[in-house]
Amino acid sequence: MIRALTLAAVLLTGTAFAAPKIAISFDDLPVHGVLPAGVSRVDVAQEIIDALKAGAIPPTYGLVNGVGTEHEPVSAAVLQMWRDSGNLLGNHTWTHPALSSTDLATYEADFLKSEPLLEKYAGGSDWHWFRYPFVDEGKDEPQRAAFRSFLAEHHYKIADVTVTVDDWDYPEPYARCLAKGDTAAIAQLEAIYLKRVEDGADYARKLSAQALGHDVPYILLLHIGAFQAHMMPKLIALYKAKGYSFVSLEEATADPFYQAYADPSLPAPPRSMENILLAKGQQPPTSPDNHSTELQAMCK
Ligand SMILES: [Zn+2]
Repeated sequence: MIRALTLAAVLLTGTAFAAPKIAISFDDLPVHGVLPAGVSRVDVAQEIIDALKAGAIPPTYGLVNGVGTEHEPVSAAVLQMWRDSGNLLGNHTWTHPALSSTDLATYEADFLKSEPLLEKYAGGSDWHWFRYPFVDEGKDEPQRAAFRSFLAEHHYKIADVTVTVDDWDYPEPYARCLAKGDTAAIAQLEAIYLKRVEDGADYARKLSAQALGHDVPYILLLHIGAFQAHMMPKLIALYKAKGYSFVSLEEATADPFYQAYADPSLPAPPRSMENILLAKGQQPPTSPDNHSTELQAMCK
């Protein structure tokens, strides 16, 4: 029995389950979610940039919706700061439409509208990375294939996502709790988020083990919001405590798993790891609790 356990331990620490890697990425630059009173978009970006630097995180892609610079012109400074700190910019469309509910020509025009802004701020770096708003790749396979062809013609790579933490649910309760000065509720909000981050990491590994039999370098989707900024040092510490090392989006995407996910000129793969399992007739593991009801009720 002891020998069997030792063997299992050896296998678990072998290549298949070596220390996991993760790439962080941020969506919705330069404007995401409500701001607490007295906090600016520049403050939020600076807090995230500082946390990435303190955590020695490799250059991190920020996917841009240009419309933010129309609604809040001073937020354009965020794009400059992001680049000046060595982080990178990519395309997330201009107005964040969902491909499934948008006709292709409108979506493509919205996508192209971002390019002059990216060209202006990217400073010669590679901004030809695209992330689908809402991670929505299209209403059906023909629409999905048509937009992938468009991406390929425009020389883009796709920034895939393999870990989400429902972080978009937190900026509103955070702003409400700060406005009330409810420090106990904020502590509770932090605890819920860290639990969700941990559950998200564990879920992704379990899913990958079930679908592929091994880890992939994971790609984490976060958004440039005030709560996410506030929590960045703790999120980075949590991943480090769980044995993760941080890699760039390019390094993660170089893993063979991502080949067809990242290269739109290749035939489209199953949309997610869940879909890989479903195609094999297997059920994916249970998704983490998103605590949505609890979050919506906080500090009301
Ligand atoms: Zn987005």
